[in-house]
Amino acid sequence: MCRHLAYLGPAVPLADLLFDAPDSLERQAYAPQRMHGGGTVNVDGYGVGWFPGPVRYRRAGPIWADANLRQLAGTVRSAAFLAAVRSATTGMPVVDPACAPFTDGTWLFSHNGRISGWPGSVADLARTLPVTDLLTMDAPTDSALLWTLVRRRLETGRNPADVLAELTKEVVAVAPASRLNFLMTDGSVIVGTTWTHSLWVLHDEESVTLASEPLDGDDAWREIPDNHVVVADPSTVEVRPI
Ligand code: GLN
Repeated sequence: MCRHLAYLGPAVPLADLLFDAPDSLERQAYAPQRMHGGGTVNVDGYGVGWFPGPVRYRRAGPIWADANLRQLAGTVRSAAFLAAVRSATTGMPVVDPACAPFTDGTWLFSHNGRISGWPGSVADLARTLPVTDLLTMDAPTDSALLWTLVRRRLETGRNPADVLAELTKEVVAVAPASRLNFLMTDGSVIVGTTWTHSLWVLHDEESVTLASEPLDGDDAWREIPDNHVVVADPSTVEVRPI
């Protein structure tokens, strides 16, 4: 279980969502409200990536222990960013490069969930990748493999929402108990999926935020139904079944 969020809109300090909101990402690390699907706290790592860039900062450990990030996040203002706190799946390494967001220099990507039967269940999917991709994955984790599959498929110019929806179906076909909530942004659009875990959206005239849990008590937060893909920018939010 992890918690993640992405924001597009007028530039705001990263700290607004990471630390200062009533149910900020930091609070969701130690007191999440909607962790159905396993896990209790998200203390194994954290990361944030923002545009222009993307620039990425990620570390293993609890987000609240990083005074440097708190200071940085109060100073950096961004109109497009993605952040996550991590609860490592049992057996997976707790190291900086296992933390989201993953990036190829264009997209920022996060995965909330797990691949069931890892790693054997997805061995055939992994074999579709060049061996050099497997040798250079950020970490030997399910999330890093999923990102490697996603980034290769994005390179073909395919629609990002289709890439995430199709990969979700392919993984569930071989690993049915998987949990696959993806979130990614290229700075102009946010694409996400719901497959077992929660995802909420807050949309007004000028901004859109997707988050595993609402960041405050605003009544305008809407839950994305399970097994859906969402494509959002400040003007439109589209949600369709996978
Ligand atoms: N399985 C992923 C990892 O270990 C994501 C974990 C999560 O969503 N809790 O990093």
